[in-house]
Amino acid sequence: MSRIDPPEMDRLRERARKLLAGKQQDTPAFNASHPDHLIEDLRIHQIELELQNDELRRAYHELEASRNRFSRLYHESPVGYLSLDGAGIIYDVNETMLRMLGQPRIRVERKPLSSFVEKGDRERFFAEYPLFHRDPGSKKVELRLLAGKGGSFMARLEGLKSFPGTAAGDDGDKGDLRVSVSDITERHAAETQWRLADTVLQHTPQGVVITDKDQRILHANPAFTKTTGYALDEVRGQRPSMFKSGRHDGEFYRRMWQELSSSGSWSGEIWNRRKNGEIFPEWLVINAIYDRFGLVSHYAAIFSDLSAHDSFRKRVQHLAFHDALTNLPNRELFHDRLSNALARARREGGKVGVMFVDLDRFKAINDTLGHASGDDLLRQVSARLQENVRETDTVARLGGDEFVVLLPKLVRVAEAARVAEKLCAAFNVPIRAGDKELFVTVSIGACLYPDDGQEGELLLKHADLAMYQAKSEGRNCFRFYREDLRAVNKSHLSLETHLRLALNNDELFVEYQPFFDARGGGITGVEALARWRLGERMVAPGVFIPLAENAGLIERLGERILCKALRQAAQWRAQGFADLRVAVNVSARQIRNGRFYADIQRALDEAGAKPCHLIIELTESALMAEPKAAAQMMETLAAEGVDFAIDDFGIGYSSMSYLKQFRLNHLKIDRAFVADAAHDQRSAAISKAIIALAHGLGLRAIAEGVETAQQHEFFSGIGCDLFQGFFFSRPVSAEQITALLRSRSGG
Ligand code: C2E
Ligand code: MG
Ligand code: MG
Repeated sequence: MSRIDPPEMDRLRERARKLLAGKQQDTPAFNASHPDHLIEDLRIHQIELELQNDELRRAYHELEASRNRFSRLYHESPVGYLSLDGAGIIYDVNETMLRMLGQPRIRVERKPLSSFVEKGDRERFFAEYPLFHRDPGSKKVELRLLAGKGGSFMARLEGLKSFPGTAAGDDGDKGDLRVSVSDITERHAAETQWRLADTVLQHTPQGVVITDKDQRILHANPAFTKTTGYALDEVRGQRPSMFKSGRHDGEFYRRMWQELSSSGSWSGEIWNRRKNGEIFPEWLVINAIYDRFGLVSHYAAIFSDLSAHDSFRKRVQHLAFHDALTNLPNRELFHDRLSNALARARREGGKVGVMFVDLDRFKAINDTLGHASGDDLLRQVSARLQENVRETDTVARLGGDEFVVLLPKLVRVAEAARVAEKLCAAFNVPIRAGDKELFVTVSIGACLYPDDGQEGELLLKHADLAMYQAKSEGRNCFRFYREDLRAVNKSHLSLETHLRLALNNDELFVEYQPFFDARGGGITGVEALARWRLGERMVAPGVFIPLAENAGLIERLGERILCKALRQAAQWRAQGFADLRVAVNVSARQIRNGRFYADIQRALDEAGAKPCHLIIELTESALMAEPKAAAQMMETLAAEGVDFAIDDFGIGYSSMSYLKQFRLNHLKIDRAFVADAAHDQRSAAISKAIIALAHGLGLRAIAEGVETAQQHEFFSGIGCDLFQGFFFSRPVSAEQITALLRSRSGG
């Protein structure tokens, strides 16, 4: 084809364009009737084709560019895309999705989506997927997808559109589905974290309040409500200053805010007010919270209520310094108060009294009644001691039945004596322990600062010694410390050793106290009482008998006294006092020991005495400790002529029914009743009842410890059969008894 000159070309182009635009429909494409026209038409057609080619190329380029743009968008989107067929098989994914799954395309396409779901989520996936596929807009699925190399990520799947199936594997009833997948691992972690924090906030025992930067309350947790009594709705929008207790001045709050704004936090103890008006201490920590520009956006206040801690602290402190049973101050607190009192007395002058108070025969009571009643008794004894001292005095329990009393401000010795007397007298009224009424007595030892010692320890030691002295002088009394008691101290420490030596060396001896017949006035018998002289002094049976019991020496001791007494009885018989009986005290341990019967037989043989010379005295507790053995032993010995007496009757703790179980002859009314009967109606009534009881059972009643003519008269009047007591005779030596017997029979 020849070249066409440019102007001609332009004309032709214009024409062709019009033709193409279809504006000149009338112009035929070919007109073969004229050769010139034909050539022109051919040229035009050629130009037309060139032009069409240009348009197509341009359109093609545009399409190509747009396709590229879309592809880039598709593959570089931050969201992953999946195309799934009706069976859930992946047939197309974008690059982002491949990156998320950490797999090459070949490993992903034509695989079921379920194979990328983490095992733990698979079951849920199968349950939720059908609905998801059918109605993609209705549901978002969140689950963990595998991320290659053993990793996984939290994915959110959103169905975009379901469209009629095109790909292979279409099952016909479900269309294809395009799904967007977002990695929500971080958001999910943040949500989990927030849920965790919220759970902690809901359940922490500490109160938490969150305010905005202007201190308007936005949030408060349940512990806040529990502590303050305010519900969240009542405080939202308010300022924390609404809890002010009024205990702190403006300066306190100014400093708090200064520190908070300079360092971002404040902590300290602060008093606030609850809704009910009560003020309470709390430990408060406030932290400022900053936004990303470093400006304060919120404040978080965390507090714990210290009032509970406070009472707990006080309780622990109380327990540390008080005796759990009686709630009295314990040894530590006593020592503390004693040293304070001494320090003050040193500064200001004046005396300080220290007293040791010990229950008489507590061990026996405790053993007989059981520990629960024993504890009850101790509690009541402490109450009674406390009732009888001033508020400024201290009664403390050192342990067991040992109490101490501190009189921190004394002027005269006589004041201490008055207190001691009062304490002794406080026990004239019986104490109820469990279901029993008991008469208990106390022995008190007292000493004074500065007279008897300068230091607390020494004063206590001296009071203790004086207490022992009170015990050895018959109990139920008080003694002041004396210098010469110190010598006793030395022997007291090794008293048990001394007693062993005394038994080995046969140093114990016997005194006899007669009992008199109420009708004829004659001496019908004598009671053998053990005596022990240690160096210069006599040790009282009240001290060495319990010691022998505890040290396992009582059987040997009892046997010694029995032999001596029976030998003496045989001698009196030889001297012509054939009817005189000798009463010997026997302890529970001797009965328990299976040899008791044999011991008595041997002692009778050795002494050449007869069973009818012997009276055995047993206390109620001794009988009840071993009732079977006692009954059997009594049966055998009574058959041979031995008599039995119940000693100290009335103060015991046993039932009356035992009286008929045993072969008894005498009932000795305890000297506590005898002492009181003449002036105390209750003791009188009990004494009368005991005598009636004795007579009812065919026993003879003996009044022990008769000290006055009045007591003698009273007991004669109520029909008592026999008397024993200082009024008639103290316990004396065998020779003195012989002399007494002689004078009576002779006179
Ligand atoms: P007990 O058997 O009740 O002896 C009577 C106690 O009362 C004796 O005390 C006696 O001295 C005392 N007494 C007698 N008349 C009066 C009085 O009018 N007023 C006062 N206040 N007291 C009086 P003692 O000798 O101190 O003996 C105390 C206890 O020691 C005895 O009480 C007895 O239970 C026990 N005991 C003494 N010798 C022996 C013994 O050889 N073996 C055993 N197992 N116990 C003994
Ligand atoms: Mg006796
Ligand atoms: Mg007695």
